[in-house]
Amino acid sequence: MKISHRIAASRPLATTAMHGRVEAFRNEGMGIIDFSIAISHFPPPAPVLDAVTAAVQEERTMPYTGVAGALDVRRSLCTKLQRENGIDAKAGEIIVTNGAKQALYEALYAMTDPGDSVLIFKPHWPAYVTTCQLLGLTPVLVDLPDQVTPATLGACPRADLVIINNPHNPTGKVYTKQELEAIRDWVEANGSQVIVDESYEHLSFGPAHTSFATLCDWRALGVVTIFSASQSYAMMGWRLGFALAPLEIAEAMQTLQGPITAAASHLAQVATVAAFDCGPQQHMIDEYRERRDTVLRHVREVPWIEMKCPDSGPYLWGDVRALTHDTEAFAEALLAEEGVAIMPGDALGVPGFIRIGYICDDTWTLMEGVRRLVAFGDRMAARR
Ligand code: PLP
Repeated sequence: MKISHRIAASRPLATTAMHGRVEAFRNEGMGIIDFSIAISHFPPPAPVLDAVTAAVQEERTMPYTGVAGALDVRRSLCTKLQRENGIDAKAGEIIVTNGAKQALYEALYAMTDPGDSVLIFKPHWPAYVTTCQLLGLTPVLVDLPDQVTPATLGACPRADLVIINNPHNPTGKVYTKQELEAIRDWVEANGSQVIVDESYEHLSFGPAHTSFATLCDWRALGVVTIFSASQSYAMMGWRLGFALAPLEIAEAMQTLQGPITAAASHLAQVATVAAFDCGPQQHMIDEYRERRDTVLRHVREVPWIEMKCPDSGPYLWGDVRALTHDTEAFAEALLAEEGVAIMPGDALGVPGFIRIGYICDDTWTLMEGVRRLVAFGDRMAARR
């Protein structure tokens, strides 16, 4: 049987692969605690449920919309961009997608040719590298500095395209305005196009989030900004996202999306309008902060793990190099011995670290998972 070289040369996305394994174990009746991705335990905001319920109860017709999404949907997203991000956009520059992943794939496809280089700071969201592999691109992985400066950027190789993830998964870094300005000057000087993933824009625990597009001429520079309802509104399975792109790129993305899915589901577009109208969900952010701090207190005295307090996001990023650099083996053994799934740093470009998604399930389950993780690491440390 023939499988294309492109697919054969790629690997399944590590996060969805691990989550799939967890699901399979659970289907067999095994009680796995899943920290491998971040699936919020909150329901979607009530206005989303109301809007979708009303559309169904009123038996609204739901035709195919234009590939980029219905005009009123894209107009409402322009209003969101103006209100929350300070970006002036036109409806033609918006494309509604089945989640940020689809927006990322389409933007990368539309902006590059096979062999082009894509600079990605590591640790990184696994989908950036996997998508590059699928498209025959050359990912160039560079350590994310604690502070991005003209000097740290000057030391990076030039790339045809740069991916910025702000706020950042998994470290929780929220880029400052000065850092983004330094990135702008650097990409301008290098003639690199940019994809900015702002999917976690609402999950900051304090620092203000700045949209890169407000600091540059994003149309001239070739900047695509990606948004998602998954984390901001606890709507992972709804698959709602959109991209803001210069017209030429937005149209190229439509050329790709048309034959694959045409538009996103019309019902999902109804939800998109309602979701992106909701603004930051403060009750979620407050609860995530409490969970974050509870876990950090618990591991503070554990000698083999070091965790910085993240400024944003649903992840804790732990340095376990005092114990092992082989975090893939660590994750496998933790799953087998304790029934706890985590993401090994290897999948995010940095072995010796682990990523813990801490927003799933109830707090008891969270802390039970942390207790099992610590017990496992303590046993490993005692054997050394
Ligand atoms: N971007 C990053 C960096 C992520 O970690 C995630 C995962 O939640 C997303 C985007 C959301 O992707 P999607 O909208 O496809 O669920």
